[in-house]
This record gives sequence, structure tokens and C-alpha cells, in this order.
Amino acid sequence: MKLIAPDYYDKFSCIADRCRHSCCVGWEIDIDENTYEYYKSIGGELGKALQANIAVCDGTANFTLDENERCPFLEKDGLCRLIKELGESSLCNICADHPRFRSFYSQRTEIGLGLCCEAATDLILSQQHKVTLVTLEDDEETLTEDEEYLLKYRNQLFAIAQDRDFTVEERLENLLDFCGIDLPEKSFSEWAEIYLSLERLDEEWTDKLNLLKKAETYAIPSSLEIPFEQLLVYLLYRHIPSALDDGDIASKIGFSVLSVRIIAAILSREEKQDFEALKQLVRLYSSEIEYSQENLNTLWDLLYEQND
Ligand code: SF4
Repeated sequence: MKLIAPDYYDKFSCIADRCRHSCCVGWEIDIDENTYEYYKSIGGELGKALQANIAVCDGTANFTLDENERCPFLEKDGLCRLIKELGESSLCNICADHPRFRSFYSQRTEIGLGLCCEAATDLILSQQHKVTLVTLEDDEETLTEDEEYLLKYRNQLFAIAQDRDFTVEERLENLLDFCGIDLPEKSFSEWAEIYLSLERLDEEWTDKLNLLKKAETYAIPSSLEIPFEQLLVYLLYRHIPSALDDGDIASKIGFSVLSVRIIAAILSREEKQDFEALKQLVRLYSSEIEYSQENLNTLWDLLYEQND
């Protein structure tokens, strides 16, 4: 199996206690069977705490979040008690893996870092070069015809997305033209209503969508051209492989273009239009939209109907 990643992948590291939106808050954390067995073998005070703070629901063990939805092992100093006392290798698969995502082909896996993590967002958006894909583990790779086609097509989309002879706004148009895709003709206010009808987790996201209602147009500040390029490339890299499951590539490209425009439109209504504001917004968008399969499906369906 070949393992592929964006060239910045190995530079990622969790910022732990400096993280303002820790993945140890607000998310249900399932514990894999091997780790659960290991936790059951731990003695002493920590063993007692593990027993008291793990519940088994429908056959799956998970940490019981406290009233503030914090993992019971996330300490006040922002560090993980399990890592402190047992080391990093004690983490369950989900905690050790976050914020990585994977796309699976017949003999190829693509791995990436998800933008719902602020350290990953910082890393991805601050890349200055045209990001490429690198091979982390080499092995024989025989792909199906559909997979070969999809990868070639995505490379063409990367080339358009990274063509710095054009502004990012122009590149978004070029992508749609190249693919013969139309986005539904809707104002940002109408898009805001659609996004407001989706599942939402954080009140801050509702506030951003209320800002979107007031946006009439969008403009990408020249100082943020490269971060927006990195965002676009990330979206294409992450979402296009899903077309192998449903045969619908148009909605994934449409979603990538739409997401960049929505983020740019919200940013244009923010008090500040700088890198920090963009990072916060991108992380929030990713948590609310990309990490809800239900929300993704709703948007993909809408974009599919447009291009059916
Ligand atoms: S969200 Fe990212 S930076 Fe924050 S605690 Fe989780 S992995 Fe670390």
C-alpha cells in the first residue's frame, strides 16, 4: 500500500496546553478495544479514575465528558493526565490520530491533517510554496481506471488552484469553467440561511453566519492570497477522493469553491481581515462543516442537483 501526504505533513505537532480549541473538549471520544483492555489493567489512583470515567455504550467504550464537555483526563493546565502519567503511547487510537484524515484507494492511502485543529490550520495556511504530494511509504500501486482518472483530474485542478498568474478569485472561476460546473445562483444571504439550517455546534459559528447574511460580495486581501490558495488545495485534496464512493466529482469541486467564497465573504465582514482572523474562521468552518458528514452530504446533494 502506498502512503501519500502533502509535503508539510511531517512538520505537524500538537500545541497541547497552548491550544485554544482543544480536541479534548466537546467531542465524544471512542476508545478502541485494545486500549480499553490496557486501561482496565491500570491500577492505583489512575486506574480508579479510568474505571470511573469510562462508559460503555452500544458495545463501545468512551470517556465520560464532564459538565463542560471536557475529557475527564484533560487537566486544568491543558495537558493530558494519561500522557503525563503513562506516556503518549497510552493514548487510544482516536486521540493519537487526531487531526489526521485518510482517503482510501485500492492500493493507495492518502493522509492529511484536518483544519479543525488550530495547529494544523496554522501549519497549512502558512505554507508559502506550492504544496506538492510526497510518498511517505512506497509500495506497489495498481489503481483502478476510475482511481487513475480521478488522480489525473485532481492534478489538473491543483495546477489551476496554484496558478499564481491569476488571483485566487480568478482561479475559482477558472476551476468552475474547466470542469463545466455551475454553483447555484444564490446571494450570500441565501447561503447563510442554508448554512443556518445545517447542524451547528458552536454559537460563534451562528454569529459568523449572521455576518455572512450582510455580505454582498467578497474580496480576498492580497496579503492572504497564498493562505487562500493553501485552503483551496487542501479542500480539493481532501474531498475529491469521496467521488470514488458516490461517482460525483462535481459536487466536491463545487463544495471546495463554495467553501473558499463563503469563508472569504465572512472574513470581509470581520473587524480584521488578517491571517489570525482567517485561521480562526477556517478552523471554525472545518469543525462545523467538514467534520459533520450530515452537513457535508446536505451541501453535496445541493451542489449535485445543480450539476446533474
Ligand atoms: S486540536 Fe490540535 S493542537 Fe489542539 S489539542 Fe487537539 S491535536 Fe493538539
